[in-house]
Amino acid sequence: MIGKKREYPQDILILEAVSRRFPQKRAELEKKLYRKRAGYKGETILDYHLAQIDHSEMVILHDLRIPINATHFQIDTLILTSCFILIIDSKYLAGTLIFLPEFDQMLRIQNDIEESFPDPILQAKTQVSQLRTYLKKHHYTPPPLEHLVAISNSQSIIKNPTNNREVSSRVFRSSSVAFKIPPFYQKHTNCHLTQNDLKKISRQLVKSHEPFLPDIHSMSLPFDQILQGVQCIACEVFGMDYHQGKWHCRSCGHNSADAHIQALKDYFLIFGPEITNKQFREFMKINSPSTAKRILASIDLVCTGTNKGRTYSPAKRFFD
Ligand SMILES: [Zn+2]
Repeated sequence: MIGKKREYPQDILILEAVSRRFPQKRAELEKKLYRKRAGYKGETILDYHLAQIDHSEMVILHDLRIPINATHFQIDTLILTSCFILIIDSKYLAGTLIFLPEFDQMLRIQNDIEESFPDPILQAKTQVSQLRTYLKKHHYTPPPLEHLVAISNSQSIIKNPTNNREVSSRVFRSSSVAFKIPPFYQKHTNCHLTQNDLKKISRQLVKSHEPFLPDIHSMSLPFDQILQGVQCIACEVFGMDYHQGKWHCRSCGHNSADAHIQALKDYFLIFGPEITNKQFREFMKINSPSTAKRILASIDLVCTGTNKGRTYSPAKRFFD
């Protein structure tokens, strides 16, 4: 069973909103966004292959960020079985990947450019030791903990020049995940954890999970230059006009009934999860408070307070 689904990462949503509304920040954020989107893509590719195997006896937790000793550790995919717990770290990297665990590094060669990355096996191993500490702290006797590194980009070339056994046994292509899990059942035959234990541990982990949110205040955003208004999805120009229940783009003539939803998402992602009628009018460039009120009432929002003090917040599935 899936104990925690993977969702589109909130930190990517925030960076995307910032890059949309602050064009002067776009170039700076591009590289970061590219890396984060690639990471997410790699994880979803592994999820796809994982979904094909029988996971009725396991609990799968996606995307955990767990606080420990004043810091956090992140796990892309955690699989709990009655005999062992498995951490899978996924990488989505193009080019030739050369594993050199003797030097705690991995080299990537792409378009004749050589780059050094931290050794992914060591990263996964570190997560294992952090998870062990976490389980002990929460009074669980840790079962055997295993780790794997999934390479999700089917185009990349994997090399293990020193024939390192850790590399050949722990690094695999996402598409072969079905063949990587059974050997752990053969290795760990002493199965102690009941289905109830698995549920208890996964509930504890989900409870501890703290999603990473980029600190907007540390990004020194020029708030006086923020692009306000509703963006046209056809030509990307900001400042659609609201008229008779529709948004109209003066630049390209495109009409939309719900273009304000993305604008409102941007507002919440940048300014926090609360908006008043006045703030909504300012950001959407609407004059009439009653029109704003009508639009706000048509969206699935949580409403608190009355009259001028009324604020609207995103409902649970607003960002889905
Ligand atoms: Zn347009």
